[in-house]
Amino acid sequence: MKLSWKNLLLWSLPIIIIGFFIWQGFFAPITNKNNDNNTANSRMTYGRFLEYLDMGWVKKVDIYDNGHTAVIEAIGPELGNRIQKIRVELPNSAPELINKLKKNNVDINAHPTKNTVAFWNLIGNLIFPLLLITGLIFLFRRSNSTSGGPGQAMSFGKSKALFQMEAKTGIIFDDVAGIDEAKEEFEEIVTFLKKPEYFTSVGAKIPKGVLLVGPPGTGKTLLAKAIAGEASVPFFSISGSEFVEMFVGVGASRVRDLFKKAKENAPCIIFIDEIDAVGRQRGTGIGGGNDEREQTLNQLLTEMDGFEGNTGVIVVAATNRADILDSALLRPGRFDRQVSVDIPDFKGRLSILNVHAKNKKINEEVSLNIIARRTPGFSGADLANLLNEAAILTARKRKNSITLNEIDEAIDRIIAGMEGTPLIDSKSKKLIAYHEIGHAIVGTLLKDHENVQKVTLIPRGQAKGLTWFSPSEDQNLISRSQIKARIMGALGGRAAEEIVFGDAEVTTGASNDLQQVTSMARQMVTRFGMSEIGPLSLENEDSNPFLGRGMQNANEYSDEIAIKIDRQIYDIVQECHIKTLEIIKNNRVIIDKLVDMLIEKETIDGQEFREIISKYTNLPQKS
Ligand code: ADP
Ligand code: MG
Ligand code: ZN
Repeated sequence: MKLSWKNLLLWSLPIIIIGFFIWQGFFAPITNKNNDNNTANSRMTYGRFLEYLDMGWVKKVDIYDNGHTAVIEAIGPELGNRIQKIRVELPNSAPELINKLKKNNVDINAHPTKNTVAFWNLIGNLIFPLLLITGLIFLFRRSNSTSGGPGQAMSFGKSKALFQMEAKTGIIFDDVAGIDEAKEEFEEIVTFLKKPEYFTSVGAKIPKGVLLVGPPGTGKTLLAKAIAGEASVPFFSISGSEFVEMFVGVGASRVRDLFKKAKENAPCIIFIDEIDAVGRQRGTGIGGGNDEREQTLNQLLTEMDGFEGNTGVIVVAATNRADILDSALLRPGRFDRQVSVDIPDFKGRLSILNVHAKNKKINEEVSLNIIARRTPGFSGADLANLLNEAAILTARKRKNSITLNEIDEAIDRIIAGMEGTPLIDSKSKKLIAYHEIGHAIVGTLLKDHENVQKVTLIPRGQAKGLTWFSPSEDQNLISRSQIKARIMGALGGRAAEEIVFGDAEVTTGASNDLQQVTSMARQMVTRFGMSEIGPLSLENEDSNPFLGRGMQNANEYSDEIAIKIDRQIYDIVQECHIKTLEIIKNNRVIIDKLVDMLIEKETIDGQEFREIISKYTNLPQKS
């Protein structure tokens, strides 16, 4: 039984409120009765009462409140000679009063009202705490008694809202494009869900679990839904982070509920998104273990073991990193199949664009080919977003079909952020222009650098100016001279500032460039074996996601090597810097011309840029 104070508070709040109203509203008349215990509406002082008594005007006395109050019936000329009820507050010690009353033959009546009033007072005061306590006991009992074991905290784990069930996802394989291998893998599963007898008759066991691995936005969720849609079976989904909640043990009970519901609805698909949130390698112990996560994971493993392969429940899980998953999850009989879903290549992007262009009005002159070419590295979600942004821009401009302008604008927006307003002409605008032209000219004149796509002074996102390079398709295999060219290109901005404005005038604008430069140089040395240290891998990328970068490798190499690494990084950057300064110095005339042009036009297209440069110097033949 686990009951956090937060819940306690949450649940007792209504009781407190109800209690308070009952207390105030319901008992108030009763508890107030002690003041209202007579119908007397006029009052008199004790002294006056004694005078009345002496005059013989008092006929009857009713004593209340343990002798603190009296209501008298009196008659007299001052009272219009009619019997009237008058209320008198009696002093604490008036022992002679009773005698006096007797002497005057007054009818005395003592009412023991104080007791009943006290009783009601007591009830009134107790009822509210009592209600509260009963309520809490009730809650504690409930959480204790149900089915025992962890995870029944107020039956939160049972709430239907925690996983979604879609009877029909409405998504078919045709909606998923560009990941054909993954699709093929799943076609078999669809067949199993539709016609299990094909498999069972020959004694085949269908995998219980399939793990989809791939970067965000590549269509993992979409694919899982498509399986359910194609097989027309229900789709249960929950995300790993929803499993692990603040209530200890609830994660495990959710897993149980999910599987129970799924089995009732078999055949069906259970989809667990972000499974790395629960399925991380257990017992790494860094930063304290997470018992809750382990419990949830254990429950998941138990459930997966607990059903026969042929019940028609197939678990599909998604993650963007399979390397950190607990090996127990990947054992046969669990997620024994892994399907990787990657960032699409050119062909993939084209077919994804085709899927998403279907319901959009795109001008005939726009070729999806060009868009696919311009978007290496975009995921399926990025591409869907790109077309949607372009459609929004088109609508905003009141055009009736999407043209290349809107597409370009949308691509730039997705990569670099919202467009800002251009700077007014000033020294800093001039400096930014030199900085950008510096990047662009170095990039253009180096054989191994990507081509300039455009240079612009229109700010976007954080950047005050931008130089765009045409991304190359193959980002995976990059040669040493290509990395060096990139380092020089990135240094081009700062180098131009140095040459044109002098050392004293260089700005902070290059900080981002320098970060990239350093990181590229470091990776050349420690990861790619591209330095004099030799082909050694000294650092892995992000091998331990629980630690910050760089922290995990603190002692993987000796101090001696560490000094060498720093030396090599320094040498690489130094060499590139000198070469870059050289390029800027040698092309000062063209740079000045280009800067004037850029300040006037704000944007220079890559083609035009190259044409201008080619008038002054030879352009390298790019590979
Ligand atoms: P993931 O789960 O891998 O992070 P999603 O499946 O949630 O990605 O993808 C988000 C959206 O991106 C989808 O709804 C779809 O519109 C689009 N999308 C992503 N990948 C593809 C694809 N391969 N084919 C078509 N659309 C895709
Ligand atoms: Mg997803
Ligand atoms: Zn820069």
